[in-house]
Amino acid sequence: MIKLVGIVAGLAVVLAGAWQLASLPGTVSAEIGGYAAEAPASVALSALVVLVALMCLCVSLIAALMRLPSRVRRWRHDRRRRTGETAITNTLIALAAGEKPDARREASRARALLGDTPQTLLLAAEAGRLAGRDDEATKAFQALSERSDASFLGYRGLLRQAIAREAWAEAATFARLAEEAHPGAAWVRQERAQLAIRAGHWAEALELAAPEGSTGAALATAAALAEADPAQGLRHARAAWNLDKSLAPAALAYAARLRADGKEARALATVTETWAMSPQPGLADFALESTADPLARVQVAKRLAAAAPNHPESEFLLARASLSANLTGEARRHAERAIAAGMNQRRVWLLAAEIEELEIGTTEAGRLAQREALRRAASADPDPVWRCDSCRADHAVWHAACPACSTPGSLRWSGARQSA
Ligand SMILES: [Zn+2]
Repeated sequence: MIKLVGIVAGLAVVLAGAWQLASLPGTVSAEIGGYAAEAPASVALSALVVLVALMCLCVSLIAALMRLPSRVRRWRHDRRRRTGETAITNTLIALAAGEKPDARREASRARALLGDTPQTLLLAAEAGRLAGRDDEATKAFQALSERSDASFLGYRGLLRQAIAREAWAEAATFARLAEEAHPGAAWVRQERAQLAIRAGHWAEALELAAPEGSTGAALATAAALAEADPAQGLRHARAAWNLDKSLAPAALAYAARLRADGKEARALATVTETWAMSPQPGLADFALESTADPLARVQVAKRLAAAAPNHPESEFLLARASLSANLTGEARRHAERAIAAGMNQRRVWLLAAEIEELEIGTTEAGRLAQREALRRAASADPDPVWRCDSCRADHAVWHAACPACSTPGSLRWSGARQSA
């Protein structure tokens, strides 16, 4: 409504002006050289207005023509950008849907339209990876790693490729470069810790992983075992044992360092404390190692067994030590108590057979008892092993990280448990 009123008012003004112009009295005359012209004032003024209007129109047209190339450029640029963004969206959809050829085609279209931006390079790399074209992915990741604004993305991609190829040294280099490009990234730290574990660089793994619980204890134990410097080795071993006092390898690493320092009493106290929580033959072997006399060894075994009284491992230890000292009656009593406490492993029945052989000898009764023990050994539970909590693989010796699945701190001793 306001617009209509404005138009009407404008027309009124124009008409009033035209009316005034037409009613102007007088004439305008001009003389140029030998030419003379004369016209009424109203006509002359109208001609002047038309001339000025035509000149303004010409100037506007010339200006518009001059701006035309840049406008065409901008329009084409905008169109490329819009098409490029559509190609990016299409690549993301194809990647999510696992459509390999589409992802590659759209990614290269986006790259052609938008140039090498971090976004187009990353999409090209991911599309290449999805399609199994590692060479394409590597080139795109390398191009990304050379950009100061996206080098982390490039190194991260190259690291993942190196891990997939199991090229651990290369992976460690890319992990270090990724951390330099983006310090403090939790993901890179985890990857570096995992790579250090795979490479057996335990001190580095310990530094990178959170030194907590069984994982920290396992890594610190391995670091202690690998450490050449006695003081540093002792520090790692003590830290390992303090993190998990039930972990026999940690106790043994610490006790061995203490023994090497001449601190035998503390070494024995360490293995005894761990025996109380998790009795294992390795701890007993360590405690008995420094005693040669068989009867004295029985006394050492008794002190250790007292830390976990009535435990099948304690009874088995006493049976073994007694048998070595030719105390066959004692040996038989402890072996029977180990079996009664819940131990039904091959080793206890083999020990029982050995006891029968030594105690009863080659008599008929002895042969029968020995045969019975051997029969029980054949059908008994397997002897204890180190079993991985993560992949259930069995290992004869302890490892800081499972050799089958590389999980650190996952091995548990499958020894006899005290029956309730
Ligand atoms: Zn495992």
